[in-house]
Amino acid sequence: MAYRHVIWDWNGTLLDDAWLCLEVMNGLMDRRAMQPVTAEFYQREFGFPVIDYYRKLGFDLERDPFDRISHEFIGAYNRRRLECQLFPQVRATVEAVHTRGLGQVILSAHEQRTLAELVGLLGLSAYFSQLIGLDNIYAASKAANGRAHMASLPHAPHEVLLVGDTTHDYEVACEIGADCVLLEGGHQSRARLEACGVPVLGSHAEVLELLG
Ligand SMILES: [Mg+2]
Repeated sequence: MAYRHVIWDWNGTLLDDAWLCLEVMNGLMDRRAMQPVTAEFYQREFGFPVIDYYRKLGFDLERDPFDRISHEFIGAYNRRRLECQLFPQVRATVEAVHTRGLGQVILSAHEQRTLAELVGLLGLSAYFSQLIGLDNIYAASKAANGRAHMASLPHAPHEVLLVGDTTHDYEVACEIGADCVLLEGGHQSRARLEACGVPVLGSHAEVLELLG
């Protein structure tokens, strides 16, 4: 398989931020006298659209609107976002992919402007031809942006590899026809990723091996 283009997810795939999402959400829940959840619960239950995860956590969205919780979450996340680091092999991996002449983009459910800012601050902008985020903070789905991106490429779907850390990444890959591999250590447990039936990898170096 000769891949010519890689679509990377951002949160939990390149950026190690699941721990921050867990801490921020537990802070919001603490302010509402709700019980905090563990990292294990988070990886077992978190998913897209995130409104469904908020319901699982027990938020009463009738009295405490999703819109208000989303703004509170993203405000607290953004105040601490610079505490997050890239996973250890990310810089070397995207640099190597770039050197091999493959195209690379980031397709994220994160809001576009803050995505671009953080990728820039971490010194990665030069490796990606596009940073594709959402135009809002509600993290519902990135399928529409994925379809539009695939339609803009000169490649056949099987020449495109999507790398993510959640079942939503797998769903998007299926929808656009791209191959998919999933990385453990992000926002969902290995068991959930394995249920998708695509390779679940333990490191970014393994992605590079797969690209040949
Ligand atoms: Mg992710």
